Amino acid sequence: MRQIISAKSMEEAYRLRRDLPEARYVSGGTEVLRLNGSVPDATALIDVSAFLSPEIEKKHDAIIIGAGATFQDIIDSPVIPLWLKEACGYMSSLALRMQATIGGNIARLGDDSYLIPVLLAAGARLKTYGNRGMLEGELSEYVRNGGSRYTVLGLTIPADEAVSSARFSRTAASHSAVNMALSKRGLFSAVKGGGIFFSLEEALGADIADDITGSAQYKKYLIRTEKERLEEVLND
Ligand SMILES: Cc1cc2nc3c(=O)[nH]c(=O)nc-3n(C[C@H](O)[C@H](O)[C@H](O)COP(=O)(O)OP(=O)(O)OC[C@H]3O[C@@H](n4cnc5c(N)ncnc54)[C@H](O)[C@@H]3O)c2cc1C
Repeated sequence: MRQIISAKSMEEAYRLRRDLPEARYVSGGTEVLRLNGSVPDATALIDVSAFLSPEIEKKHDAIIIGAGATFQDIIDSPVIPLWLKEACGYMSSLALRMQATIGGNIARLGDDSYLIPVLLAAGARLKTYGNRGMLEGELSEYVRNGGSRYTVLGLTIPADEAVSSARFSRTAASHSAVNMALSKRGLFSAVKGGGIFFSLEEALGADIADDITGSAQYKKYLIRTEKERLEEVLND
């Protein structure tokens, strides 16, 4: 039987995680609570949803998004730029969009992530809490480090940033084969069976697995050819 402990504050969540090193956080639960998912039933879960903010606000030239904001909260917000709404829309199920949080999507660091490529392209900054207290840093650093045991509290994106993106999968409801995004910062991609990449060269040179979403050759073909279309969209 799964043990779920509710944390009332970020300090309590941190203490619980320190005392239970094997435990995992749960926010929307669409990943950790899924049937036959990646988290064994014996793993204790620390529910962080009670204290994570779902607020989204625009402050001057930045938009601040609480880690507890769901994909649907983001789509419904009047201050969120179109490129992020589009990326949230890549999650085709309304039921999942109403549950899945942006914090969970980032912390999961999936090679099929809908959001990490666009957030990297926008130069997002991440707020976290852990043994060194509250920290703010580049999302790119968090991703390059393979994440951390810190609680993701929220993120900041620029209000005026041009980002174009694309998603490829067998069906709208299937896992993504490739999610990619282009901005003045370059091309970023999440490639199933490969990882998260920070340039075209990195993705094309990577060891990518053939799997149910497509062959490695197919995924690389998508990235190479779609980059040209994304450039046209960005320059329009
Ligand atoms: C059928 C199906 C298909 C899916 N396909 C995709 C896909 O193609 N692309 C994709 O990106 N996702 C996919 N997902 C996974 C998932 O729905 C999303 O990634 C979602 O955004 C995860 O958010 P959540 O709040 O539900 O996270 P949770 O399930 O609660 O947690 C996900 C991970 O993040 C950690 N975590 C959660 N919140 C925090 C926090 N605030 N701080 C630190 N760690 C935290 C958890 O410990 C866990 O490791 C799919 C899920 C299902 C059920």
